[in-house]
Amino acid sequence: MTEGEATRRRPEFSKGISRQEDDGRALAKRLGWTIVKVIPEDDTSAFKRRKIQLPDGTTALRTVRPGFRTALDGLASGEWDGLIADDLDRVARDPRDLEDLIDVVESRRPRIPVESVTGSLRLANDADITVARIMCAVANKSSRDTARRVARKHEELAAEGKPGGGGFRGYGYDRSNLVVVPEEAEIVEEIAARILGTWDGWTPEQREAIDLEIGESLNSIANDLKARNVPTVTGAPWNSRSVKSVVTKPRVAGLRTHRKEVVGEAVWPAILDRDAWEEVCGRLAGRFRNVDLGLQRWLSGVLVCSRCDRLLIGWSGNGGVRYWCPTPKGGCGRIAIKADVVEAEVERQVVDLLSQPRILEQLRSVADTEVSDEARRELAEDEAQLKEMAGAYARKEITFAEYREARGIVEKRVKESRALLVSRAPRVLRRLLDGDVRANWVAARPVDKREVVLALVPGYRVMPHDRSKGNKFDPARLVPLD
Ligand SMILES: [Zn+2]
Repeated sequence: MTEGEATRRRPEFSKGISRQEDDGRALAKRLGWTIVKVIPEDDTSAFKRRKIQLPDGTTALRTVRPGFRTALDGLASGEWDGLIADDLDRVARDPRDLEDLIDVVESRRPRIPVESVTGSLRLANDADITVARIMCAVANKSSRDTARRVARKHEELAAEGKPGGGGFRGYGYDRSNLVVVPEEAEIVEEIAARILGTWDGWTPEQREAIDLEIGESLNSIANDLKARNVPTVTGAPWNSRSVKSVVTKPRVAGLRTHRKEVVGEAVWPAILDRDAWEEVCGRLAGRFRNVDLGLQRWLSGVLVCSRCDRLLIGWSGNGGVRYWCPTPKGGCGRIAIKADVVEAEVERQVVDLLSQPRILEQLRSVADTEVSDEARRELAEDEAQLKEMAGAYARKEITFAEYREARGIVEKRVKESRALLVSRAPRVLRRLLDGDVRANWVAARPVDKREVVLALVPGYRVMPHDRSKGNKFDPARLVPLD
């Protein structure tokens, strides 16, 4: 331990390699700090991603880093009063980690000092923090691909929220793609309302025939637009694809995309407000999944092969209907379980869970719309960060390659948030919890049962069949995933 001011007690955050520890100690000596704790976080455990359950019951991979959490706890509690890291990316590779660190640093006045051997991590003022956020989002600083400059003009336009140019104009906008065409905007709004079940143009009979929770079918909308001779951009007749396309394109919500990812707010006016647009996208995504899962096997996507970690899927073969790790889809083919017995067993467990008030309360919180508010907030933050990064690139604070790298990471998170926003889980759970929960469960469609199961458990690992136990189904073959 270096000798320094006895009153200063600081931990050092390092990779646990002695040279790095030596560097950290040397820096501490220069700063006159006393190291009281070295927290190693080696590469294998530091960035291990584990499956965790998100508030809406879906699962996602997140980085679990015990050393980093120890450091944050010690700083937050005042046990330590400063932090030395080897490098920024040793401390916070995940932007969420960096945000937690910034929160702790800013919880004191003056701020808790943070230093790094390489000088890459400084959080002393707002400018430092902005740069740290950008650099943190840059996962691989070594990547410098000059060929990417070809795409530069496009990148700049995307970052500024201007249309990319070339190709057809977007439905609802004129050739500049900046000015709304009122007649077309009306059609976009009409289609959205018909999908959302809020249109006032239906006859009472038509309205009666439509499940307002699901909305009118795309085919039915297309046929009506054709019958009314509503023109399209290309002159081709309306079909379900073009109906879906005009109403789900991010541009109609005033959002600019680049390579199919939303990169921020656009300079042109929105036709649909963001909430309505998201709801439309969510509904259509839900419909798509309905079709996808029409095979009735509601444990598809819930059961995992214990031999190769693939998801088992419903499969009809000589031995009847089973969940199988299918070789035609790259599975090992060695794990199979009879569909009726495994569904009966999971159903028994679900009904048992649904009788517990504590579980019901958890489900209620998932059903609560605040979940999507949270996702919306995260999405807004990420979109703001994308803009910030574009600005930093424009001011030449980061290189183009760094900007590209950083954007990729944030965009991935944006995608995750979007997935959360279109999740069907809250709607399914609201239906389940409305009235007699058990009766609602029994009456639920297979696709909804699956959603409920995934809200309750991350899934089950299916163990091999133990022949010594005969042909009887052994519930121990189902091991809940953690
Ligand atoms: Zn397998």
